[in-house]
Amino acid sequence: MGAGVAGLGAAWALSRHPGRYDIEVYEAAPTPGGNGRTADFPQRDGGTVPADIAVTAFIPSVYQNYVELLAHLGIDTVGTRFRYAVHHGDEVYAHDVDTPLRRRLAGDIAAFRRLLRTVDRFNTLNKRPSWTTAALNPFNYVTMRRALDLWGVSQEFRHKVLKPLFVNFVLTSGVYAMPASMFVRYMDFFDVEHSTPMVTWRGGTRAVYARLTEGFADRIHTGRPVTELTRWPDGVYVRDANGVTERFDQVILACNANHALALLQRPTALERGLLGAVRYEAGLHGEAVVHTDASLLPDDELDVSGTRSTFVRHAGGPHDRPDDYEITYIMHNQQPWGDGAASPCLVTYNAHRQPDPEKVLARHRFQHVVHDVRHTLVLHALLPLLQGRRNTWYCGAHTTLNSQEHAFLSGLAVARQLGADYPFAANRDATRWFNFYGRMCLGARFRTVRPRSG
Ligand SMILES: Cc1cc2nc3c(=O)[nH]c(=O)nc-3n(C[C@H](O)[C@H](O)[C@H](O)COP(=O)(O)OP(=O)(O)OC[C@H]3O[C@@H](n4cnc5c(N)ncnc54)[C@H](O)[C@@H]3O)c2cc1C
Repeated sequence: MGAGVAGLGAAWALSRHPGRYDIEVYEAAPTPGGNGRTADFPQRDGGTVPADIAVTAFIPSVYQNYVELLAHLGIDTVGTRFRYAVHHGDEVYAHDVDTPLRRRLAGDIAAFRRLLRTVDRFNTLNKRPSWTTAALNPFNYVTMRRALDLWGVSQEFRHKVLKPLFVNFVLTSGVYAMPASMFVRYMDFFDVEHSTPMVTWRGGTRAVYARLTEGFADRIHTGRPVTELTRWPDGVYVRDANGVTERFDQVILACNANHALALLQRPTALERGLLGAVRYEAGLHGEAVVHTDASLLPDDELDVSGTRSTFVRHAGGPHDRPDDYEITYIMHNQQPWGDGAASPCLVTYNAHRQPDPEKVLARHRFQHVVHDVRHTLVLHALLPLLQGRRNTWYCGAHTTLNSQEHAFLSGLAVARQLGADYPFAANRDATRWFNFYGRMCLGARFRTVRPRSG
């Protein structure tokens, strides 16, 4: 249930054994891909440019399995740079540009760098796929808010520089509730002063999912949300929105935890407690407006629409909140094939100024799992208790981490537990991380894989 990257990963791994498994995939949306959605942006010449509107990029050094998948599918990758700019009234903070605001906050930047150096020393414990060493890191148990307090980092720096950076790159509003270790791990890739090299996929995520599902596209039922799931001793009965009920031996719930809980008839106390405890936020990133209205971007010497991946504008106003931002993703810069676009490819979240309705292509709503200390310490340890009970399995970002790599791994891990082969065992590093996240998703009884040589 659910054709996001987790559900498709599970279905793909199972579909590679056609004699062993007979699969069906139910997806509520009209197309597969979950959060990975590509839009065709109209151009002045009458043509279109395909650009992703949500999931756009990855970091190869931590996406070992996703990189293997793209290579396996023959999808070309393309380098890009993520470079943000923030406007607070007349003040500007931007990657790779010296501004008066940056100079004023130089002391905070230095304090923040000291914090990074200290936490990073302990983070070496989290960089190996080992639960034992990871558990020793004290910064797993401290929120980022507390760490910033300890290092004396000002509220102004937090609101004007750091939170916009995270809101922009990690797409989460409650950034300071994250464990300090996780926050600082992100800072291995992003920097407060300089832009970040990233990698994207040619043709958008649509192209990735089209190749991934080639062997089982006829088994994916889009526009067919599941409404009820009833577990009996002879199997699981799945009822869809058309009122059609089918019986299965096993079900994999590859949708968000709150959606999964809503489907389960007579959930156990453990299912109610654990699935209900996963938090989702729809704060700043609740609604995305996909549009081509460049008037939402500033027209200044920074040339935001030509050089930046994202523009963050402090919303201001009479009921001013210091962390209320309007965020515009400049997709024609994030995905380089769009940089010749005559009409801009833009996605605005938390739009305080509405784009010209004539230039609005679509509106989407997203949910983001909240990786607070409770989730990473308590729920990650307890969610595996649900796996396989009453023939019901769970995968998705909430069972591992909120990224394409980790959601994909959770799908592969559940398929593995059901007996499917792990496809990338020839890559030692990918296999070690697969085992690590497999245990996160399924607990100690996860059927780990031995790396193959060659
Ligand atoms: C705006 C945004 C940008 C992101 N950018 C990046 C990025 O650049 N790089 C990156 O690595 N990660 C990014 N992420 C994170 C990444 O997208 C997620 O971690 C990943 O998509 C989670 O995949 P999933 O399969 O768990 O869930 P989803 O992608 O949410 O898929 C769940 C699916 O379940 C379906 N479903 C729900 N209920 C039912 C039902 N009752 N019946 C049938 N189907 C149902 C939904 O329609 C959906 O298709 C981004 C996320 C968002 C929201």
